[in-house]
Amino acid sequence: MTIAIYPGSFDPITNGHLSVATRAAKLFEKLIIGVYNTPDKHLLFTTEERIELVRQAIVNLPNVEVESFSGLTVDFAQKVKAQAMVRGLRMGADFEREFDLAMMNKKLSPDLEVVCLMADQEYQFLSSSLLKEAARLGGKIDSFVPKHVATALRKKVHSKM
Ligand code: ADP
Repeated sequence: MTIAIYPGSFDPITNGHLSVATRAAKLFEKLIIGVYNTPDKHLLFTTEERIELVRQAIVNLPNVEVESFSGLTVDFAQKVKAQAMVRGLRMGADFEREFDLAMMNKKLSPDLEVVCLMADQEYQFLSSSLLKEAARLGGKIDSFVPKHVATALRKKVHSKM
């Protein structure tokens, strides 16, 4: 069985992430979205909340699952027997970082292939951090995230004000 992981913070999951996951799910028999379990203070949602938001976003994707992980991404890949790691590439911003990450991961785990999918044109400039900033300032975020994420984001942002 071809298995891939799609690791990230997903704080929260956006339509850009979802587009990558949907396309990757057509390339692999199983795709596991790996949510970094990190106590990073900069994150808006807890690990449990981020997992739940992903879970609701993938209900119509039968071969996609979500799991949290901590530690090295390559160890998570090995644990779930993944042959590939999927990442999304937006224009400009992501390439250098993804290239460095891929080189490091290749050294750590030579058999794990990194598969980068180009971000959709309409989501090229969409990032979770910009989205959070827009939500904090009361911007209209509905076209960037699934409905349940927009609701959760508004609620969370208000609770932190
Ligand atoms: P990380 O903390 O690993 O950067 P993110 O949740 O920000 O986690 O992103 C996870 C992956 O999704 C990364 O490969 C990132 O480049 C990609 N990604 C983020 N936003 C988009 C988008 N709008 N379109 C396509 N891919 C994206």
